Amino acid sequence: MKDKYYDHIIHGGDYNPDQWIDTKEIWDEDMRLMDLAHVNSATVGIFSWSLTEPEEGVYDFSWLDEIMEKLAAHGKKAILATPSGARPPWLAQKYPEVLRVEETGIRNEYGVRHNHCLTSPVYREKVREINRRLAERYGKHPALLMWHISNEYSGECHCELCQKAFRAWLRERYHNDLNELNFKWWNGFWSHRFTDWDQISSPKGRGENHVPALKLAWRRFVTDQHISFFENEIAPLRELSPDVPVTTNLMRLYTGIDYQKLAPHLDIVSWDNYPDWTAPDTLDTACETAFVHDAFRSMKHGKPFYMMESTPSVVNWRPVNGLPAPGLPELAAIQAVAHGADSVQYFQWRASRGGHEKFHGAVVDHYGKEDTRVFKETAAVGAMLEKLDAAVGGRTEAKAAVICDWENSWAVDFYCGYRRDGRDYFGACRKWYRALWERGIPTDVIPMDRDLSGYDLVIAPYLYMLKNGTEDRLASFTENGGTLIATPLFGLVDEYDLCYLGGFPAGRLKEVFGLRREETDALPDGETVPVEFSKKTYAAAKLCDILIPSGAKTLGKFRGKFYAESPAVTGNAYGRGTAYYVAFEPDADFIGAFLTSIISGLGFQSDVKATLPAGVIARKRGDLTYVMNFNNKNTQVFFYKTYTNEFTGKPVLSALLPPYGYVVLR
Ligand SMILES: [Zn+2]
Repeated sequence: MKDKYYDHIIHGGDYNPDQWIDTKEIWDEDMRLMDLAHVNSATVGIFSWSLTEPEEGVYDFSWLDEIMEKLAAHGKKAILATPSGARPPWLAQKYPEVLRVEETGIRNEYGVRHNHCLTSPVYREKVREINRRLAERYGKHPALLMWHISNEYSGECHCELCQKAFRAWLRERYHNDLNELNFKWWNGFWSHRFTDWDQISSPKGRGENHVPALKLAWRRFVTDQHISFFENEIAPLRELSPDVPVTTNLMRLYTGIDYQKLAPHLDIVSWDNYPDWTAPDTLDTACETAFVHDAFRSMKHGKPFYMMESTPSVVNWRPVNGLPAPGLPELAAIQAVAHGADSVQYFQWRASRGGHEKFHGAVVDHYGKEDTRVFKETAAVGAMLEKLDAAVGGRTEAKAAVICDWENSWAVDFYCGYRRDGRDYFGACRKWYRALWERGIPTDVIPMDRDLSGYDLVIAPYLYMLKNGTEDRLASFTENGGTLIATPLFGLVDEYDLCYLGGFPAGRLKEVFGLRREETDALPDGETVPVEFSKKTYAAAKLCDILIPSGAKTLGKFRGKFYAESPAVTGNAYGRGTAYYVAFEPDADFIGAFLTSIISGLGFQSDVKATLPAGVIARKRGDLTYVMNFNNKNTQVFFYKTYTNEFTGKPVLSALLPPYGYVVLR
């Protein structure tokens, strides 16, 4: 598959002309305003099913014909959505099975969106049929750039159809052998051995919810149901428009679906980015956002992604929806491009007049004209992006990776023990990522089943579960010269949440790290244990592993509690590489000092030849380097070499970046 689908950065967003069918003069005004805002694309049809198929089998595409023609006439691309995210009332009225059954066992009534059964044959057939008609009609339309499948897939259904499908899925996965399932789920515990497949059902609050292996199996099943629902959706599109790429917009670190397993089914990954720029620590928000960008970029092995949604101003769904400071939406747009996005798209182009999202930010608000602050700032972003054709399709080569695995996040959420409070798997991964990000070191955020051979440094925070093959991949990576870092509760269970026997971490990894982890102490909030490392003292929080070295060198020690003198940081030469174990939840100070102590030996270089002041982040992608100031003040950056400003062509040896300003360098 290609890295590039359009020669320019896509600038546009969700466009709902179907809401304005009675005031078509607004459609022409939209085209005029899109031209002014430097918008080159519109995402249409997401929630349009009740207009396109007002009665079963009665289709009316006349409105969409007109819109597609208008977009083409104005030189704009259409990202055309399939409408499965929300269904027309007649469909639910006639076929109640399409509605979702909640975990309570009660079937939902008609309403909202994401309220469908993923298994229902009727729903799948109706979706396939309308998608077929869309593909027949628009699959070769000059305006069509991409298919946008559904919208923010999410949730799960517990109806009888889904229960049956779950049991069939289990039979296949466990070779039709209940004994195998009973063993892998450890069903001897609490006398839960199944004797009939029909005894099994989805995890529920009022039923079985204490078997981690069942909960893992259910999440895997729900992921597979989404994938098969998605494949059902795209079948007619692939048949009738084989050259048109497909995507679906994903939601940040949503864990209801294993995005890393879904991603290979998409031609291009896209996601909806709503950072909270009103939070007190802008740099922290920026880091969270960068981390997610890199996770999505890494899902397709570095291929560019689309930022399918963002807000040009404000959202409407937080408890308090403050306005981001002027300049931040533009900086967020540049940050997306810097991390691999080939699009800057908004929800939404025009604010709806009524309904749930009417106060969500939009490029065109209820005033309806171009002389607003938000419109002018959005137009400036569009004009800027038009100068960034050179960015499109660019890749970032990373030699460092943080393993951040969706299935491990489930396993960490599900186990009972150690510390229940404040378990934050993604946060633990992001802490390590942040130290590399701040140093301008490109970093991939990868699942545990990824080939590691291209990396020099792999960090595996809180990698509690090891899926098949991970133990060997980590061992071979180290043996072949890689630097591996692990943290507490590393390598405790297999993919069924069965503990490894014979000592932790699993199997061969005890040799790789030259140690065994014997016990783990959990600390309440506010309590820390001092750790001495490199003649300084740091604070260990949350979890402290007590290690028994069997060859590993002690590089740092606990200096408190009964395990004072026990190793807190170890390093072990294994093959041509080194495996480090950090036996506690570290803070940023320790991570910074520790990585500094090993990174110089790895020959890592920052993305930019400069000493970056605090709050200034650099990222190289393709031939361009983006230097971004997340400080709310002027910040001076001095470079070690002369760059060229991509926008002005002028040489750059230093830059005074305004608050939330940036510079793009070549
Ligand atoms: Zn169902």
